[in-house]
Amino acid sequence: MTSTPDLVIRGGNIADGKGGDLYEADVAITGGKITEVGKVAAKGKEEIDARGKLVAPGFVDVHTHYDGQVTWSQDITPSSQNGVTTAIMGNCGVGFAPCRPSDHGRLIQLMEGVEDIPEPVLSAGIPWAWESFPDYMEWLSKRSFDMDIGAQLPHAALRVYVMGERGARRDPATPEDNKQMAALAGDAVRSGALGFSTSRTLNHRTSTGDYTPTLKAGEDELTAIAGAMHGVGRSVLQFVLDQSTVHEDLPMMLRVAETTKCPISFSVAQADKAPRRWRQTMDTINEAAARGLSITTPVSYTHLDVYKRQPSMRPRRAACRSRPRSRRGRSGCCSGWNCRATRSRPIRAIARSPGCRWPSGSSICAGPRCAPRS
Ligand SMILES: [Zn+2]
Repeated sequence: MTSTPDLVIRGGNIADGKGGDLYEADVAITGGKITEVGKVAAKGKEEIDARGKLVAPGFVDVHTHYDGQVTWSQDITPSSQNGVTTAIMGNCGVGFAPCRPSDHGRLIQLMEGVEDIPEPVLSAGIPWAWESFPDYMEWLSKRSFDMDIGAQLPHAALRVYVMGERGARRDPATPEDNKQMAALAGDAVRSGALGFSTSRTLNHRTSTGDYTPTLKAGEDELTAIAGAMHGVGRSVLQFVLDQSTVHEDLPMMLRVAETTKCPISFSVAQADKAPRRWRQTMDTINEAAARGLSITTPVSYTHLDVYKRQPSMRPRRAACRSRPRSRRGRSGCCSGWNCRATRSRPIRAIARSPGCRWPSGSSICAGPRCAPRS
């Protein structure tokens, strides 16, 4: 006798992730596991009619910046609306734990500049009910979400927490700083951090134009942190580099990986001025992988330059507060992520919808707390 499945998804177009053609089939699930794919005869306790729809495994998005959104919303949108079932946050060295009360604004400005998440949204939304990274994890563990989330320890937050102003202005870490960062990194893994992230790209700046605190962090600092994390449990070191300095920075990161045995995840991007350099980068990575290093290289399917190249975003705007960059050259274009004028355009273009739950003084709508337009 056939047992009754908990759930049968009927007649969907199956994309099973193996790369083959789509095919129509039923999927039976019992006890949280797929028990049958094909023509399922048994009726499920629950049935979903998926005819005309795509049925696929959930995506695991290893590079997101939901560090703020998870503190005010249980809907991890738009990812959860687009097939992602697990999101890993805390990438690029930016996030909100650990953080002293006096540095709340500093980390918000950094997230605003690096990831284009507006300061009014972050300031209104983050409750700051934690100081340490374990406190942040503990606090999040009491919340529920419409998908699974995982967190990494962000280097910028850790550096500012331990070194204060020296960390923010990118001073070299002392041996005592390294010791403290390593100890806190170990605590982070014990509390559930999946890894540690850092950034060495000039594109990552605060909303006032300062470089990210981790830009020139030394090999000793990175080795101390990655070593401590991987010493506690399995970890991963996620990082982003500029292609213009990849010849210096990548070998250093590989040495860190080799010394600490910590797996690394390097977000590879293409450089405007050297469109083929990514091939050399991949050769270096493949050589390191052949030596036994554990390396993965996520790539974005649309490069950020898609935005930079929007004609409407190129002219330098009068209200632009980002520092002019000579390398942006000819037109004096300010089209970086840090251009307030550029970023404020799409925000203002979103009309405040009826029922928006943001404070009435806020011009922002369609944010995480915004009521649906319908
Ligand atoms: Zn990122």
